[in-house]
Amino acid sequence: MNCRAVTKQLSFLLDERLESEFAVEVSEHLWSCRKCNREFMRLSRLRQQLHSLRRVPAPQYLRHLVRLHIAEAQNDYLVKRLREFLELRWSRIRTTERLWYVARFLGTASAFVFFFALYLYRPARPGSRAGPFAEPPAESGGVRAQESGIGSGGDAAQAYQLKRTHD
Ligand SMILES: [Zn+2]
Repeated sequence: MNCRAVTKQLSFLLDERLESEFAVEVSEHLWSCRKCNREFMRLSRLRQQLHSLRRVPAPQYLRHLVRLHIAEAQNDYLVKRLREFLELRWSRIRTTERLWYVARFLGTASAFVFFFALYLYRPARPGSRAGPFAEPPAESGGVRAQESGIGSGGDAAQAYQLKRTHD
């Protein structure tokens, strides 16, 4: 054990706060080292002098000050607890929000897949080619569009023409 480590432990040795094995080690060093021994004696004398001072009653404001500090510490503790609670809640909300976005995305994706599947496997019309992206026959495409009511733009144009001839 070196002098520096021993010097740090001297006041603990005086207060009898060292564990017995460690105290023995420090004491052995004190026996062999004059410098540390002198420091130990100096500390010991200082301690005796402090003990010999007469006791004075603590001033009134000290009690008040101590109470104030305790109240402040409790307040800080409550604020800290509140903050921890709110942070926990907030993190849960964020997690739920993320799940919500994932669910929404999955819902949209599955709806898209569903309607795409409906489009792919729609019942084939007689005479037309079955399967996805089938080209409508060139000669009968317009007629079929009118029959099925898909070509609403053409209907509107026809109606307009009819109205003009009627006027
Ligand atoms: Zn020493």
